[in-house]
Amino acid sequence: MKLLEYEGKDIFEKYQIPISKRFGVLKLGDDPKSVNITRDKCIIKAQVLAGGRGKAGGVKLAKSKEEAREIIEKMLGMEIATHQTKGAALKVKEVLIEEASDIAREIYLSIVLDRKDATAMLIASSEGGTSIEELAHSNPEKIIKIPVDLNEGFQEFQVRELFFKLGFDKKLYKEFSALVKNLCRLFKDIDANLVEINPLVITTAGELLAIDSKIVTDDNALFRHKDLQAKEDHESSEIEKEAKKIGINYIGLDGNIGCMVNGAGLAMATLDTVKLAGGNAANFLDVGGGATVEQITKAFQIILKDKKVKAVLVNIFGGIMKCDDIANGIVEATKKINLNIPLIVRLEGTRVKEGKQILLNSGIKLEQADSLWEAAQKAVSGTN
Ligand code: GDP
Ligand code: MG
Repeated sequence: MKLLEYEGKDIFEKYQIPISKRFGVLKLGDDPKSVNITRDKCIIKAQVLAGGRGKAGGVKLAKSKEEAREIIEKMLGMEIATHQTKGAALKVKEVLIEEASDIAREIYLSIVLDRKDATAMLIASSEGGTSIEELAHSNPEKIIKIPVDLNEGFQEFQVRELFFKLGFDKKLYKEFSALVKNLCRLFKDIDANLVEINPLVITTAGELLAIDSKIVTDDNALFRHKDLQAKEDHESSEIEKEAKKIGINYIGLDGNIGCMVNGAGLAMATLDTVKLAGGNAANFLDVGGGATVEQITKAFQIILKDKKVKAVLVNIFGGIMKCDDIANGIVEATKKINLNIPLIVRLEGTRVKEGKQILLNSGIKLEQADSLWEAAQKAVSGTN
């Protein structure tokens, strides 16, 4: 799960990582006057799940309360596309209003789960700011990488190495050491995949301050974090949220072939095969091991909520579940829903003959396929 900047900063605060003074967070529909700005200068920041907001008009400085209110009014509800959104525009539903800082230096600091080296990795650069991706490309030698043993925490000798490589003033050592160690603790405690401060700044007054936050947590560990679970998943669509509630593994995609598959591996293979056949899947959907009538009905309903869907491809392997049970499930489910687009079914596995016969006898308008390749081709032509 990805957290918004202010949600990440709430966690920073708990771990004594210094953040700017906050005046408030406003949501779409809130009165811009309701925020109590107690300083002359403030920063208004669009709360969307993408970096690069600065360059895309999502980070604005206001020099008076009046100017701040005007900016808030304009920013709430606007659409923002940054280099990280791949062309898509994100609607700004919340803004964060903070005290503006005078910045002397911007540093990049993050901890990521490095799967290649099988460790948590601290990544830092003295050239922080907005485009760390570009820097990694053009000047990889400017990126500092230090593996972190999460059980031991960040060690003092590692702090020293990092501190000197970043060229900090000695006066900041204690503060910096505490910050990095706390960041590692935070990373471990919340089961993060990524915790990023870009930029970590040194203000003109000589203080360290996390100006931005990016936190991505591991969904598989979410059950251990009731507080994170209670948060809204800003990245999920309405359909995805609904699917999650009823225990169906669903991810919306851009295509128009709705796919119902059991097992994540088979689901991936199905997406690939649809692509090979010249089509595009509208979703990844894994009905799970126990493909009961109820689960199949729910899965159909979820797939059909996506108005892009022009054909449905069911690809179910009867392993533990028998194909005749699955076929009965499909028959029952289609009775309950109003399916007026082509339905293609490919069954394979235990009692497949009986399953196919049930579908044939049911009188339901559907096409059966003997192989995944045939099913994918039929689904693609069904959308034309
Ligand atoms: P991002 O572009 O989405 O990563 O948003 P950031 O929060 O990182 O802000 C982008 C840039 O805006 C930063 O790198 C800073 O240069 C600038 N910025 C953000 N907050 C402040 C602030 O309080 N004072 C000043 N002077 N600049 C700021
Ligand atoms: Mg940033």
